Amino acid sequence: MKTLQKPVPPGGMIGPVPPGGTIGIIGGGQLGRMLAMAAARLGLKTCIFNDTPDAPAFQVTPHHVVAPYEDIAALEAFADRCDAVTFEFENLPAHAIARLAEHVWVAPGAQALAITQDRLSEKSFVAKLGLATAPFREVSSPEQARAAIAELGGTASGFQAILKTRRFGYDGKGQAKVASAEACAAAFARFKGAACILEGFVDFTFEASVVAARGSDGAFAAYDPPENLHEHHILRRSTVPGRLSEAQSRQAKAIARTIADALDYVGVLAVELFVGKDGGLTVNEIAPRVHNSGHWTIEACQCSQFEQHIRAVAGWPLGPATRHADAVMENIIGAETDAWESLAKNGALHLYGKKQARPGRKMGHLTRLIPRGSK
Ligand code: AMP
Repeated sequence: MKTLQKPVPPGGMIGPVPPGGTIGIIGGGQLGRMLAMAAARLGLKTCIFNDTPDAPAFQVTPHHVVAPYEDIAALEAFADRCDAVTFEFENLPAHAIARLAEHVWVAPGAQALAITQDRLSEKSFVAKLGLATAPFREVSSPEQARAAIAELGGTASGFQAILKTRRFGYDGKGQAKVASAEACAAAFARFKGAACILEGFVDFTFEASVVAARGSDGAFAAYDPPENLHEHHILRRSTVPGRLSEAQSRQAKAIARTIADALDYVGVLAVELFVGKDGGLTVNEIAPRVHNSGHWTIEACQCSQFEQHIRAVAGWPLGPATRHADAVMENIIGAETDAWESLAKNGALHLYGKKQARPGRKMGHLTRLIPRGSK
């Protein structure tokens, strides 16, 4: 039974999607798969839209669409099968999501997607909210590339900065550390002139993130922020609690709330943070979706990030984000998955059903719980 009249009026959804309704998920990777599994537990069906037929999420629900993400007709037909739609990754055409939103309730919205998928608009947005970011400059020509380093306050040699493509960067792709105006111009050329930003290097002690949810009624719930360790630009481990103090944890949650409210956000989002030598928190980036650093919430919290996201998208009340155990989540990357038998002895094992274990590919994760207070 459809609960939403179409077209959806500006401003939103008409009542929650009841059990038995269908949540559409654009993107069929491991995040879509774990979202579909959480939806199933709530008695909701899912339909997955993916641009290739071999999506890990296809294994956990029988309802699929295979088409390019820009295929408006396919997206509209998909919308007709769904009561609400969400996405599991941010590199979707925002205009296609805006079109989709004329047919069905989409959360998070096209505006949140448009702001967060472009590093320049994202950083400008965060800075306008009065939150700390790395110093940054727009770079869209070799001349700007040369000038930007000096503008950030460094000298042409010896200053460390990172040139990043504005769009389509993830797991370190589209990024280059540069230490001189010439290196910056050369990196810009390597990115084939793609629009970039240059960021000043943040001399942080460690990285952290905060995963939080905002409901369609504006309710807010944040998980305890983990400390994150990256190796070769890929998340290796999230530990909660990490080295963040109580005050830093509270501040991280407040940052997530400021961002979610300003975006009028519905769903789960993650804010990646640098924890500075002075203890200050600097926003690195916003992910408008469930996040790898929140996988531990499946076992360690009353309501996981995946269930929370489905609840928000479906217009349900948010669940408690309360954590009942300490946790360490490790990604299983590439050939590490071959050791699945011994990994299975060590904690809660999640394998994503990917056929090929290519180097750097996230194949699964393992969460170990430590009862609170036992350390
Ligand atoms: P990103 O794709 O922006 O999340 O960057 C990937 C990783 O590169 C981050 O998790 C950091 O380890 C590092 N990084 C990115 N930007 C900066 C920066 N401005 N200063 C220092 N390290 C950075």
